[in-house]
Amino acid sequence: MSSKFDKIIDYAVRKGFFWQSYEIYGGQAGFYDLGSLGVLLKSNIIELWREFFVKQHQEFVVEIETPIIAPAIVFKASGHEENFTDYAVECLQCHRTFRADHLVEERLGISAEGLKAEQIEEVIRKNDIRCPVCGGPLGNVYRFLLLFQTYIGPYSPSNLAYLRPEAAQGMFINFKRVYELMKRRLPFGIAQIGKVARNEISPRQGLIRLREFTIMEIEFFYDESNPTCDLLYENCSDEYINILRAEDRAKGIDKPLPISVSEAVDEKIILSPWLAYWMCIAKKFVNALGVPNNKTYFEEKLPSERAHYSKQTFDQIVIVERWGKLEVSGHAYRHTYDLERHIEFSRADLYAIRQLKAPKIIRRSVVKYDKNAVISFFGTKAPQVFKVLASLSSEALAKIVAESKGDGVVVEGIEIPKTIFRVEDVEEKVWVEKIIPHVAEPSFGAERLLYIVLEYAYSEDGGKVIMKFPKRVAPIKVGVTPLVDREPLEGIAHRLFKELKRHYYAMYLEGDSIGKKYAQADELGIPFVVTVDYESPSKGDVTIRDRDTKKQIRVPIDGVVKVIDAGLKGVDIFSLGYPIIERVEDKE
Ligand code: AMP
Repeated sequence: MSSKFDKIIDYAVRKGFFWQSYEIYGGQAGFYDLGSLGVLLKSNIIELWREFFVKQHQEFVVEIETPIIAPAIVFKASGHEENFTDYAVECLQCHRTFRADHLVEERLGISAEGLKAEQIEEVIRKNDIRCPVCGGPLGNVYRFLLLFQTYIGPYSPSNLAYLRPEAAQGMFINFKRVYELMKRRLPFGIAQIGKVARNEISPRQGLIRLREFTIMEIEFFYDESNPTCDLLYENCSDEYINILRAEDRAKGIDKPLPISVSEAVDEKIILSPWLAYWMCIAKKFVNALGVPNNKTYFEEKLPSERAHYSKQTFDQIVIVERWGKLEVSGHAYRHTYDLERHIEFSRADLYAIRQLKAPKIIRRSVVKYDKNAVISFFGTKAPQVFKVLASLSSEALAKIVAESKGDGVVVEGIEIPKTIFRVEDVEEKVWVEKIIPHVAEPSFGAERLLYIVLEYAYSEDGGKVIMKFPKRVAPIKVGVTPLVDREPLEGIAHRLFKELKRHYYAMYLEGDSIGKKYAQADELGIPFVVTVDYESPSKGDVTIRDRDTKKQIRVPIDGVVKVIDAGLKGVDIFSLGYPIIERVEDKE
């Protein structure tokens, strides 16, 4: 008896949702191709994400698109070049490489997340963990960089580049530009959907652990002194989310507890109100994908498990049959980390402006310099000196002058006599101050959601598969068929099919019997099937069958699109006033 997971994978491959990439060359782990139904399902999931996260917040969340390849400096600044690593271990006999922490987890059933290389190695030695393929001894555990490396243009060390492992950096880099476009108002969010690449060590979980996948992310920027999130109360006041706190996990507790979102913020269980808000939306989104509330929760990461940029992280978990739990999204309080690092590495002004309620008096030193003295001292080199001086802010120059010892001030390699500078202390009344906004980030992997949707939609009835896809994400929305494959029913069905294709992904169902056609539609999770029957030619109407109840209504042909539209939007089609038929379906 195969497991539900095996059945789903078998179904998905058979029906052409997805399969391993590069099959004709033996396949390549960590890469999957999507077939036509997979593409439709994934794009519907993405569209639903867009609706929940972007469209419903469009006045302050905007979507952008940035490149997949970035010069190395970007990921040096982001800290990924140093920190985006996993632990690898090589078999000394067959030379296969494995993810060391996963080997420990699989063998001993304990979590190895957050352990250091030496600790993992010690566990491996103590428990005599060996190569899972050939049984050979394992070597040392080492850190492996998960960034895919490439070069922009011809090879040269200065052309080093990386494929992005997250979409986030494109949004941080564009912070100022979007901030200006948003009329310098906080809070606001930048969203991005796109491919990312991670050079995962020996991925073996199919679609769950890919080396290239689609991420859907928001970087949400807000002023930490005014973090109030009215929407939390407007949209989420009655919402409960299940949370498994880090402090409970550290005590060995593994049962998440429900808590209202606003209470979680008030009690500082979730440190950022905006992080809490997006977690609430994430819960609603996952519910809309077919996962009930008791099958999803947020697991707070221990400090040792968090990414380098995060002050608090919650993984959104969905219960699955194969692995027990599966992370579908990460919610990180990235604080000011990324903007600060990009300011440091690029020297760009990535600050926001905070309006003050009362003016502030600030005292600061400004540096003035005698232009004539520069000209007479440097002669023809004077323009170069002016350029260097102009590139520095007054504060930066004052700092250099104050810190320089001796008679000269060295600015960008040029020594300038100190006598040329005059430092003055000034008092200023200011109504604004520069701040680095705080950032809350929800981040989803589209392919994991695709798997989740399949698992939660999968059901069997008398040995037949019925995919109960939520209507919004069902790949094919409507089937159309004649009760028997004969004229004049066929002609009407073909005309209807032509019309339905203008609105939806539709399918013309063929088969020996109507029972077989309905079974075919159920197997593909098609929510509605329109049937042209013997009464249709004379009466000008057809039946619409609902996948989940198998009940039908009789609808005039020109009303079909209106009914399907309503049904796909979640309206109960049996409440629309059309005659309801409880037909005993033909058996195959
Ligand atoms: P992270 O930035 O690691 O929190 O990842 C964000 C989301 O991307 C996760 O919650 C997963 O849904 C998804 N994800 C991460 N790594 C992979 C992978 N190797 N393959 C497929 N999806 C992934």
